[in-house]
Amino acid sequence: MTGLATAKRIVVKVGSALLVGPQGADRAWLAAFCADVARMRARGQQVLIVSSGAGALGRRRLSLPKRALTLPEKQAAAAAGQSALMRAWEEALEPFGIHAAQILLTRDDTEVRRRWLNARATMETLLALGVAPVVNENDTVVTEEIRYGDNDRLAARVAQMIGADVLVLLSDVDGLYTADPRHDPSAEHLARVTRLTPEIEAMAGGANAGAGVGTGGMATKLAAARIAAAAGCTTVITLGSRPAPLQAVEDGERATVIEASTTPAAAYKSWIAGSLAPAGALVVDEGAAAAVRRGKSLLAAGVRHTEGRFDKGDAVVIRDEAGHEIARGLVRYEAEDAQKICGLKSAAIEPVLGYTSGPLVHADDLALAAHARAQA
Ligand code: GLU
Repeated sequence: MTGLATAKRIVVKVGSALLVGPQGADRAWLAAFCADVARMRARGQQVLIVSSGAGALGRRRLSLPKRALTLPEKQAAAAAGQSALMRAWEEALEPFGIHAAQILLTRDDTEVRRRWLNARATMETLLALGVAPVVNENDTVVTEEIRYGDNDRLAARVAQMIGADVLVLLSDVDGLYTADPRHDPSAEHLARVTRLTPEIEAMAGGANAGAGVGTGGMATKLAAARIAAAAGCTTVITLGSRPAPLQAVEDGERATVIEASTTPAAAYKSWIAGSLAPAGALVVDEGAAAAVRRGKSLLAAGVRHTEGRFDKGDAVVIRDEAGHEIARGLVRYEAEDAQKICGLKSAAIEPVLGYTSGPLVHADDLALAAHARAQA
């Protein structure tokens, strides 16, 4: 079981080798792949595509020399190729009545929380609108030091960001082997990995690290799988060159499934509860405290006052008036605005601020303190 047939949200990483043929974008492969995507969407599943290929398409478009390119040349190629890449996706998705939307991310966007939240909100909105987001690294603005460089890890971060249940890495090998199958006939295929142990990681190292063309070899695929597993997302590594690679996996073709070590919701909540230094606090009345304990959003109406200087998207502590911590959460307003709307009903927020971002802290972005969970 790969979970592909039942997943609600799927991120599929498509590598350059699949998309770019000798004549530019491989339209036949793209058409078949998009039919596969359309089939999943018709079942009510949301699919987000992480697509490489800008560099390879741009290099061809600009007729750049065969030698190793300089960084500005690579970036020029990516800029020229990205529009060709999007055109290819648009043309391939159009027959299925699906619009594509381009999202270009850098590592900062997945690490700086405010940008992370904005990017997430955009992707959520696109998915809700039935659009297919097509994500790539924003190669034009990144330098080698701050690049992801490979779309495997970018795809894992995106999967984490949107709480995907399955990440599919389409590759030129059909999964993970105990050794490099091209050189070692005794190499055995692993159908399922329940935990990424050092032994498993070692299999992807050494001679096997570069298995596969494209930037990401097996080592980066496992690095991606590690990010995904901790975020509650199962990773499926499989051969992408088949016409309908997702269907093939569902039909039982070879793949390696790397299980998640938690659920997306639990991973997200533990990230909020544990890994963020709170920038301030919201002090709430009894009614709001009880609502938060029951897993409801924190509305401005129940907040007495705010403490500290926080930005939209920062982590804050939610305390009752006796000073007990009830929860931590990501606040949707900056401190000054939050203070202005304390005690106000939701409908009164917009007249005061000129905008509304909904509740001060949405239920999805709240992690209850252990004792509050016990009382709930
Ligand atoms: N962002 C690069 C491109 O579109 C691809 C990175 C990768 O190969 O994973 O050309």
